[in-house]
Amino acid sequence: QSQELSQAQIDYHAALQALVEDGTRMVCTGRMHTDRICRFESLCYSTEAEEFVYFHSNSSVMLPNLGSRRFQPALLDLSSVEDHNTQYFNFVELPATALKFMPKPVFVPDVALIANRFNPDNLMHVFHDDLLPIYYTMQQFSDLDLEARLFFMEGWSEGVHFDLYKLLSNKQPLLREQLKTLGRLLCFTKSYVGLSKITTWYQYGFVQPQGPKANILVSGNEIRQFTKFMTQKLNVSLEESSTEEYIVVFSRTINRLILNEAELILALAQEFQMKTITVSLEEHSFSDIVRLISNASMLVSMHGAQLVMSLFLPRGATVVELFPYAINPEHYTPYKTLATLPGMDLQYIAWQNTDREDTVTYPDRPWDQGGIAHLDKAEQERIIKSTEVPRHLCCRNPEWLFRAYQDTKVNIPSLIQVIRQTVKSKPGPKKQKWSGSLYPGKVRAAQCQASVQGTSEAKLAVSWQIPWNLKYLKVREVKYEVWIQEQGENTYMPYILSHQNHTFSENIKPFTIYLVWIRCIFNKNLLGPFADVLLCST
Ligand code: UDP
Repeated sequence: QSQELSQAQIDYHAALQALVEDGTRMVCTGRMHTDRICRFESLCYSTEAEEFVYFHSNSSVMLPNLGSRRFQPALLDLSSVEDHNTQYFNFVELPATALKFMPKPVFVPDVALIANRFNPDNLMHVFHDDLLPIYYTMQQFSDLDLEARLFFMEGWSEGVHFDLYKLLSNKQPLLREQLKTLGRLLCFTKSYVGLSKITTWYQYGFVQPQGPKANILVSGNEIRQFTKFMTQKLNVSLEESSTEEYIVVFSRTINRLILNEAELILALAQEFQMKTITVSLEEHSFSDIVRLISNASMLVSMHGAQLVMSLFLPRGATVVELFPYAINPEHYTPYKTLATLPGMDLQYIAWQNTDREDTVTYPDRPWDQGGIAHLDKAEQERIIKSTEVPRHLCCRNPEWLFRAYQDTKVNIPSLIQVIRQTVKSKPGPKKQKWSGSLYPGKVRAAQCQASVQGTSEAKLAVSWQIPWNLKYLKVREVKYEVWIQEQGENTYMPYILSHQNHTFSENIKPFTIYLVWIRCIFNKNLLGPFADVLLCST
């Protein structure tokens, strides 16, 4: 991967003239700074000022043109973490005529994706905040192809997982620090700024305690398209033919240890009659871990970033997450949320150590490794006595860190019992058929016919035809939901029906207008859209 910007691709004189004459052009998508991605022509960056620069000329474009709202609080989020005040993007403005007095621009010929990595040393953050969002931002814009170049502006060094970022494009990603070596004023010929948040599933607790995002928009299908890409780029050959089933214990070697790992491995192997292996980030290459997890029947691990590797598990596999003493599994669910995304088809099981005897605490370590010696005595005592960490905000809650960095002796019978509640026979990747769930279309040609019997009784005969897509599908169960609402009323009478017509007589009054709403339901829970409302007068 070349790190140099090839100037050969660029007619320098023409590029400079275009910049001076046309200035910067920006057109963005998104209504708020939190959902905005901008496409630029001739966006520049001053490596001395460490600021992006927008040049005004007769042909420049700035959409949205927000005026000073561009600073309230920013034009857009540069990382995929929503509205984080250390991750904002903006630019300063200059007239293009100022270029006369500025350092000679160096042009970036590659189409650029400019973004911030959020926490490149933590594997969960790497996948969730950076790799998946970058991958799908690149899918959104067709000129962000494998020849595009990534620019990471957060200011971190490469970090331990840089090789993973390199897989996303054929060009070496560049870091903020490296831009200085390229020139004093860099101008990006074509660039995209910002990352799509459409694939993220978790919020880390900056404004409210951590938990799943409110409106998750990604399913297992998109996750697996991404992992397929990564697996291919890593040159991992998936031995489809190998049929031996096995369990992977993903261990941590520095902290939050499983103290009786050997015993755990033996117990799992014996209980499930399966080979059981351990992997760790310290002792295995990333490719080896991906290869092993891609064919595993079960992944067992302490709560922690390494569990994001369940991204690579095959459908049907089981994730077992172990929580140290006093940490409520329901309060920390990044990996549960991942495993239970629609279409991930993973089974998720949480186990918690509930026995004080089985935990080893480290009160004297530095605060960021869970030490509490810096707190006053009363607070230390309260924490040590507490049986559950109360919900809290990110990221420096000492009680949380104290409990999160405990080591645990896993109570084997209790763990096996919890797993057995879910995994009845052998765990394992069931080689499943595509189980995509498709929704019905609208019912068609809906009609109603009213008949009045005397002054107090009436009937409403309603009929409709099947949704258009049903004739191409094999659906286990097709039902129809019909709502009958008296015009002007807030309430309605709901019915679930199996046929395409029904005569309603219960609670139907003569000389009344009814609104009839009809939708189709596949397999009990796949609700289709309502057809246009029917107006029926008795
Ligand atoms: N890590 C590791 N082995 C260890 C401890 C940590 O590989 O014994 C990795 C972990 O997977 C993560 C990074 O180091 O990628 C930071 O770990 P930390 O405990 O800070 O974060 P957490 O796992 O709680 O998200």
